[in-house]
Amino acid sequence: MKVIDIINRAEKPFFAVEFLPPLKGHSMEKIDKAFSNIADLEPAYINFTTHQKEIVYYEREDGLLERRIVTKRPGTIGLSAAVMYKHNVTVVPHLICGGFSKEETEDALIELNFLGLENVFALRGDPPAGQRLFVPEKNGHRYAAGLVKQISEMNQGTYLDPNIKNPDASDFCIGVAGYPEKHIEAPNPETDLMHLKQKVDAGADYIVTQMFFINDRFYEFVDNCRKIGINVPIIPGIKPVTMRTDADLIPRTFNIDLPSELCNDIRNCHSNEEARVIGTGYAIEQVKDLLEHNVPGIHFFSLGMTKNIRQVIQQSFR
Ligand code: FAD
Repeated sequence: MKVIDIINRAEKPFFAVEFLPPLKGHSMEKIDKAFSNIADLEPAYINFTTHQKEIVYYEREDGLLERRIVTKRPGTIGLSAAVMYKHNVTVVPHLICGGFSKEETEDALIELNFLGLENVFALRGDPPAGQRLFVPEKNGHRYAAGLVKQISEMNQGTYLDPNIKNPDASDFCIGVAGYPEKHIEAPNPETDLMHLKQKVDAGADYIVTQMFFINDRFYEFVDNCRKIGINVPIIPGIKPVTMRTDADLIPRTFNIDLPSELCNDIRNCHSNEEARVIGTGYAIEQVKDLLEHNVPGIHFFSLGMTKNIRQVIQQSFR
């Protein structure tokens, strides 16, 4: 089912969970396990991330370094279809601009269509590890708005090759990312919001936000979106803290604030298990408050860990 139909038909708030594909060389078993931890709670849908190729240096026997380009988590499209059919759940694969030419993107969309996947989450993608700036692929998209436009055009039967006779239109539902605390590269929140509006104007059906720990930032973001005419559903993204190091890593990695009380509590923990308990408790209160504010649903970033997410859902959704 399309995510936008799930949102529009939902009689109560839903939840969705985002997973990373397994690292190269590993089977689907971990995903099956993580999914089965939450399957009985009936997630409305699940997402699979996509990751850009990375440059990795291997030390050779002669001591020289060999440069290789590797995809550490390949297979999002195949995995999405496999999980959808195996577990009978709606799956949303992420599609990124980074590392893909427009032709390759079109081929990926055709593959998704053949496999019966009706949803796509369209992203620019982060620069690969160790690279500060995002560099688009030759003849690829520089921004997610371009990717959204390409998908929307295919939904209208327009392919890159104008000579295709009687082309069949696809019918993808398109999600995009929004940033309540501003995307790290945007010069200011207003400009970032205008760029978000470009994605919606290009055809995005709904927005999922970056994680945040201060709900007022999300409420303010939604108000500001509505003021500039972004009227599609906005789903808050939530990531329960799981490790002591999260207090330092999360703000640095995602350019977001952690409230000082939560930050101090995590820093004072003596183990990751203690941090996980605190993080789960915090997320429960956060989600309860969001549900009281009538959000359509919650998108959980799982990073493969679903036990804590199960607890959050059980104790916040009624
Ligand atoms: P864009 O919307 O293209 O924006 C990127 C930056 O460019 C912003 O600062 C924006 O303000 C600016 N910008 C946009 N348009 C213009 C313009 N015309 N002129 C000048 N500046 C402009 N990353 C992955 O690699 N794989 C994933 O699977 C993945 N999943 C994610 C899921 C969610 C829910 C979220 C919130 C993020 C995810 N990310 C993922 C991270 C995301 O790819 C990064 O945050 C990336 O840096 C930005 O992606 P975007 O789609 O928001 O980019």
